[in-house]
Amino acid sequence: MSIIIDDELCTGCGSCVASCPFGGIELIENVAVITGDCTLCGACVDACPVEAITLEREEYIDKIDKTLFKGVWVIAEHFQENIHNVVYQLLTKGRELANELNVSLTVVILGDDFEEVLETFGDYGVDEVIYIKSKLLKNYYSDLYVKALSEIIEDRKPEVILIGATPTGRDFAPRIAKKLNAGLTADCTGLEIEEDTKNLLQTRPTFGGNIMATIRTPTSRPQMATVRPGIFKANKIAKKKPKITTIIKKFEEKDSVTKILKIVKKQKEKINLEDAEIIVAGGRGVGSKENFKLIEELAEVLGAEMGGSRVTIELNWLDQDRQVGQTGKTVTPKLYVACGISGAIQHLVGMENSEIIVAINKDPNAPIFSVAHYGIVGDLHKVIPVLIDEIKKVKEEEE
Ligand SMILES: Cc1cc2nc3c(=O)[nH]c(=O)nc-3n(C[C@H](O)[C@H](O)[C@H](O)COP(=O)(O)OP(=O)(O)OC[C@H]3O[C@@H](n4cnc5c(N)ncnc54)[C@H](O)[C@@H]3O)c2cc1C
Repeated sequence: MSIIIDDELCTGCGSCVASCPFGGIELIENVAVITGDCTLCGACVDACPVEAITLEREEYIDKIDKTLFKGVWVIAEHFQENIHNVVYQLLTKGRELANELNVSLTVVILGDDFEEVLETFGDYGVDEVIYIKSKLLKNYYSDLYVKALSEIIEDRKPEVILIGATPTGRDFAPRIAKKLNAGLTADCTGLEIEEDTKNLLQTRPTFGGNIMATIRTPTSRPQMATVRPGIFKANKIAKKKPKITTIIKKFEEKDSVTKILKIVKKQKEKINLEDAEIIVAGGRGVGSKENFKLIEELAEVLGAEMGGSRVTIELNWLDQDRQVGQTGKTVTPKLYVACGISGAIQHLVGMENSEIIVAINKDPNAPIFSVAHYGIVGDLHKVIPVLIDEIKKVKEEEE
């Protein structure tokens, strides 16, 4: 898609500039000019009183032979030789989708020194592992990922590609989609195959999480989706011996516009919330940063990590990486204890798949109780100390 401005027709009236929500168009020497911030939303097209602006869409419908595209792929991301958990979650979902489409499941991993793990992908029902090997790909290079993946995708033509919505996945997925004119839906929370068309149905929250949109990309292939860690569960389902295809790439630093100077590790080794088995989370109802000591104490006796609603991050009661919800982390611990959290939809989407949810809230009508398996109606400042004492007693009895 592109925006075309007819310089002859443009009168320099500025209606388009006023209509653009993104600063994507400006007047230069009295003629409208598109800037790098244009999102192709088309607001300027409607605003132009002299029809000098048009949005040109290429029609891919007839150009793509969809029958050439087969198979479900998962791109395996890793950091410092550790494969991200989301990869196993996507492989489990990918196997389901591949079964429905009656096609194979392939995992693609770019890196160095992964020979020993390649076969273990078979535990997740993978039929083929494509290993793009290069010394340089030990670390993430955005443009080399885009280059290597675009090439193999163009060559092998998968119909579905699943990618973790991790910082790196969010970086290379849209760049590949743009390069290949593929459809991409970011941050999906549900994936299904449409019965009659066999298109991928990609569901994700929209309008601030107030509604769920199901998106199809029926005229382009491959269909690409990013999914946040924790949305799907990882299950070892098979003991397959996958076919392993190794592709050697002789990338050199000069092939990339990026040069990695230093890899800085996070200072404090907190457990990532997405990996925590127990989370005690606090909301505005906790009352203050000082009061969070109570939440911390409960977390300590339970061996839990601390989390919170967005309000607690905005009020600076907790660090940013502790936020649970739509704009924070999606978590699926064995136990989630929500203290003084109302249960706004944006919070629920980040924790409702937890195995057991306990909610403590003084308002019996708080929406958090609609997802809680156990609810305690009461003042958390009175309830939590009692809980802590009881847990300590049980622990002492066990010792
Ligand atoms: C685009 C967008 C994205 C967002 N993303 C997120 C997100 O990722 N995560 C997130 O959490 N929110 C997010 N929000 C904000 C969300 O809409 C809510 O505002 C937020 O979750 C509310 O936080 P809360 O439950 O802590 O506070 P409140 O809604 O104010 O609830 C406080 C609760 O504490 C209870 N309470 C008060 N005192 C006590 C007490 N002494 N004992 C027991 N209970 C008590 C009250 O009854 C109430 O239910 C987002 C909003 C938008 C618009």
